[in-house]
Amino acid sequence: MLTLRQLFLANNAQTTDFPLMLEFERAQGVYMYNAEGKGWLDLISGIGVSNIGHGNPEVIEAVKQQVDRYMHLMVYGEYVQTPQVRFAQKLASLLPSTLQSVYFTNSGSEAIEGAMKLAKRYTGRNQIIACHNAYHGSTQGALSVMGNEDFKQAYRPLLPGIQFINFNEPTDLQYITEETACVIMETVQGEAGVRVPNLAYLQALRKRCTQTGTMLVLDENQTAFGRTGKLFAFEHFGIVPDILVLGKALGGGMPLGAFIASVEIMGTLKNNPILGHITTFGGHPVCCASGLASLEVLTRKNLISQVEEKEALFKKLLVHPAIKQVRGKGLMLAAEMESFEVLKKVIDHSIEQGIIIDWFLHCSNSMRIAPPLIITHEQIEQACAVILQAVDIYA
Ligand code: PMP
Repeated sequence: MLTLRQLFLANNAQTTDFPLMLEFERAQGVYMYNAEGKGWLDLISGIGVSNIGHGNPEVIEAVKQQVDRYMHLMVYGEYVQTPQVRFAQKLASLLPSTLQSVYFTNSGSEAIEGAMKLAKRYTGRNQIIACHNAYHGSTQGALSVMGNEDFKQAYRPLLPGIQFINFNEPTDLQYITEETACVIMETVQGEAGVRVPNLAYLQALRKRCTQTGTMLVLDENQTAFGRTGKLFAFEHFGIVPDILVLGKALGGGMPLGAFIASVEIMGTLKNNPILGHITTFGGHPVCCASGLASLEVLTRKNLISQVEEKEALFKKLLVHPAIKQVRGKGLMLAAEMESFEVLKKVIDHSIEQGIIIDWFLHCSNSMRIAPPLIITHEQIEQACAVILQAVDIYA
């Protein structure tokens, strides 16, 4: 009889020759457990998803209650489905007055697709500006704005009219013109290895977009829901995007994305043609119930107010001659090593010792540290001790 791992390799599509192959039976809080009960401390949150930790009882209860009421009833946007309405209302109450209309999607990539379509419709323009080293998803529209040719070349032709600028480079803002439908940017670049832009840069970007009538699309898939120490990362910079893109932690562990704009901007999806974006499962009621419960836990438990001190603790502890730099904001951190080869050994050793870390798509010499926000000081100390031990051995 084949083992589960053998079956995984045989019947589940593989996208690399070196999957991690870890096998977990359950997850609770900041830990994931195998069948023998061995726990791994999760320092990556399923790539920025499990912000309030795994298995939160309120989220589980909300999911169960919604499953009992109804699951799928109708494609998005026709019926008044309570979880969608309540979740949009809650998000709107936490967002500025120009971000009050929420379009729920299945994923972050689909939300990016919707945001780009909306920007084209609202401005009547078709040029898009994105950033080198950006990651916005893997569908063909999202791939078109990915700032790494290695991942794109095999899929060309992609969307026309995309121009790339350097992230955090003020002189490149001149390329934004009255022909530009939107600039699409991560508020803090994630897969580039956590790159935090300057305050003045984002403010100049906002100004330039306003001057040229260009939609500013901020992709907060990785940065929202407290990850950087604010509910939304744009709050650090005193700016508001025209279109906000959410995903990952939005669904509280269930698949959900959203693009959010003003009622006026979003209204352009209604005409010429109608149904400007269509999705069957976007805003699935169970996912919205889960997302709402998760957001309520996040805000009520004041988790975000502890993020900055946890960031400081990681930065204080992760000091070693072989760690060149610890970059980032809040609990979205990157520790830079000499090379991928060294980092890979550090990662493998840490995983063996029960600490899950990994690297970034566009930055292979840096270690991703993005734990659930509920991680305690003791757990941070424990994790850093293991990482430093690995660095000592291999670097
Ligand atoms: N934007 C960013 C910044 C992301 O990090 C991701 C996912 N890693 C996406 C978009 C795409 O989201 P999804 O995988 O849910 O389609």
